Amino acid sequence: MSGRTVPAGRATTTQIRPVARPEQIRKHNLGLLLRHLHQVGSISRSELTTATGLNRSTIAALVGELTERGMVAEHPDATKSGAGRPSYVVTALPQAAHVIAVDLDVRTVTVAAVGFGGQVRARRMWNHPVKHPEPSDVADAIAQAAAELDGETAGSRCVGMCVGVPGMVRTQDGWVLNAPNLRWHGVPFGQFMRDRIGHEVRMVNDADLAAYAEHLRGAGRGYNDLICVLGRNGVGSGVLVDGRPLHGATGYAGELGHVVMDPKGRRCHCGNRGCVEQYAGAPALLRAARRRGVRWATSRNSSHGSTPATNRPRMS
Ligand SMILES: [Zn+2]
Repeated sequence: MSGRTVPAGRATTTQIRPVARPEQIRKHNLGLLLRHLHQVGSISRSELTTATGLNRSTIAALVGELTERGMVAEHPDATKSGAGRPSYVVTALPQAAHVIAVDLDVRTVTVAAVGFGGQVRARRMWNHPVKHPEPSDVADAIAQAAAELDGETAGSRCVGMCVGVPGMVRTQDGWVLNAPNLRWHGVPFGQFMRDRIGHEVRMVNDADLAAYAEHLRGAGRGYNDLICVLGRNGVGSGVLVDGRPLHGATGYAGELGHVVMDPKGRRCHCGNRGCVEQYAGAPALLRAARRRGVRWATSRNSSHGSTPATNRPRMS
């Protein structure tokens, strides 16, 4: 407490407590319940009570409302059998709502409609038609794929888009500061997508997303502190501390690919020599395999330089 006096009759900021209205509390609790079901899958009402800290009657009312809205369903628990009353579990319905998830990689783009529970309901995948694609062309192709996926998930509500980017991105507005392998610098890609699809768009570094995905559903499940190394054309890593992404003071935390391993090593496109990417990125691994005589088949669609027509989004 500071020693500053407060005029009589005037409240200090610490005395003013915003009071949440019942409607706000209900919306908050609906979101809490849906998020939990989305992340953990089918669970019983009593498990929901324990997990959320809400009481049984509140859970019953929330489940009832979400059932009426077609977002969740209750059904007998298939994992439990035997005599007596069947036990029921609550499940968020994958077909009720979806997000458009975009993996924008250096060579390929994957766009998927993902429903509750992480269920992939439909997907498109294609190679960039040129080695260094123009951001507006990529945005056009993604918007086209997203429109097709929306058509295939009729009845499901699209609630937004998330784009994983191989580079540094400002998540607040989707400004790509630097995606060196795409040769994109200072690109308002989030705005490009918002202009084209009319949904909310979030853009996040791909390694940060990978770390979060492993935390929620993969090898990092149950761990709040982890490092996920993502090795593709580039090499990056996402760091979670206490379940939250670590960006560092300048946003470069986890940018592993351009850490110099050998100052006299192979020249990197970033201007330095001997970066991790020059030894552990996909092109470096392919070069090493070629040197050792490994051969592999390539398809027309998996190479750069083919015509846009052959690289139109296709079902996978
Ligand atoms: Zn480098």
